[in-house]
Amino acid sequence: AAVALARVFELVERERVEVVDLRFTDLFGQLQHLSIPPEELDGNAFRKGVGFDGSSIRGFQEIHESDMLLVPDPETAFVDPVTEEATLALLCDVRDPVTGEWFSRDPRYVARKAEQYLVETGIAEVSYWGPEAEFFVFDSIRFQIDERSSSYVIDSEEGIWNSGLDGERPNLGYRPQFKGGYFPAPPTDSLQSLRTEVVRALRQVGIRVEAHHHEVATAGQCEIDLRYAPLVKQADQLQTYKYLIKNVARRRGKTATFMPKPLFGDNGCGMHCHQSLWQDGQPLFYDSEGYAQLSPMALHYAAGLLAHSPALLAFCAPTTNSYRRLIPGFEAPVNLVYSQRNRSAAVRVPMYFPDPVAKRLEYRCPDPTANAYLAFSAMLMAGLDGIERGLDPGAPMDVDLYELAPEELAAVRKTPGSLEEALAALEDDREFLLRGGVFTEDLLATWIATKREHDVAAVRTRPHPYEFFLYYDA
Ligand code: GLN
Ligand code: MG
Ligand code: MG
Ligand code: MG
Repeated sequence: AAVALARVFELVERERVEVVDLRFTDLFGQLQHLSIPPEELDGNAFRKGVGFDGSSIRGFQEIHESDMLLVPDPETAFVDPVTEEATLALLCDVRDPVTGEWFSRDPRYVARKAEQYLVETGIAEVSYWGPEAEFFVFDSIRFQIDERSSSYVIDSEEGIWNSGLDGERPNLGYRPQFKGGYFPAPPTDSLQSLRTEVVRALRQVGIRVEAHHHEVATAGQCEIDLRYAPLVKQADQLQTYKYLIKNVARRRGKTATFMPKPLFGDNGCGMHCHQSLWQDGQPLFYDSEGYAQLSPMALHYAAGLLAHSPALLAFCAPTTNSYRRLIPGFEAPVNLVYSQRNRSAAVRVPMYFPDPVAKRLEYRCPDPTANAYLAFSAMLMAGLDGIERGLDPGAPMDVDLYELAPEELAAVRKTPGSLEEALAALEDDREFLLRGGVFTEDLLATWIATKREHDVAAVRTRPHPYEFFLYYDA
């Protein structure tokens, strides 16, 4: 810690820092910030913190107890590559000034407790996380209603996308074919330069990138893959990843969105999460004899993910829009099964490398609207519950789903159909999250109540553009 602190002050000097930007994540995953001049950043700021009004932050405090503190974590310091002025960014913990304790609704605290809980179980000492957060880059979005029932039109560098038309349209330029964005070279992929600028920024702040590419959707879908990292560190990195993508897009006069399903009829944005447990530098998910070279521990972990999926999705797919993505036909999972082959399975076992260190599970349900601190923690708790209870994931589903008889397919457990269902499932199935005090009853109750009001009811009570097509002349 002393080394990290010394590095912070050295960076402030060397980079002639003009702004120190204190950042944290609200309950629902949005990055928030407060800036101070560098002379305010002394030992006191790191020991005692900097005050802010917690009552104005979504999901944080009530009015009568609104004073809160931001305590910067020196390990997270980086010089921000997208600000005009020399800015040192620091991710912060949120503390209560009265008790001095870490605030129980600070998602970063939940993630820290999840890491500690893992160690306490004795099952493993570290979990590794590799998220694939997909996103769209658009120029503009116009909402309109026309006789083809379109609800909106999106302009992107790769052409105009009209939600009322299907895939067979004239291709007047270098437009990716319908569902054909994966992955023709430029000029069809028009976003190489934008992604390269994002990757440059990520590398500058020390975030390791494994690959980047255009994604399947026809208009402007991208993916940049981060190298695996421990839970809190990866959630920290993901917040910076989203921040850099949005800011690079903004500088180029575009917008980036992590919305799971902005385009009807085309692929949505997932955030598949690769995960594994390790002890003494050894991977615990590998066994050369097991199914798909998975160890018994990995299979129990998969069973935990599958068993708790309906509740998990309240954190992993936390928006009403998330459930427009979780439908058949777009590489998003709908079946709560595991497989080394099926991309419609919620848990996939990647088989790229036969290497023990590469052995991991890919949970495909999450999307990038998830608050990574909470979603990673919830998945870990579900997997650990599977291990502790020795849950059996059943037989893998490696058959072609089209070969199944309708009764067989109907017997397969499915992802929830709506955010409402996922929240109800979380209400009924939350014991596994409360272990070790990782999640608190207060946090879960706040989450469920806010999501019901702010998302579910808000969308349910608003007329949908498509209803004008269906019912206007009814
Ligand atoms: N976009 C797909 C999803 O929603 C994933 C596509 C892929 O990465 N193969 O999960
Ligand atoms: Mg990928
Ligand atoms: Mg992908
Ligand atoms: Mg994937």
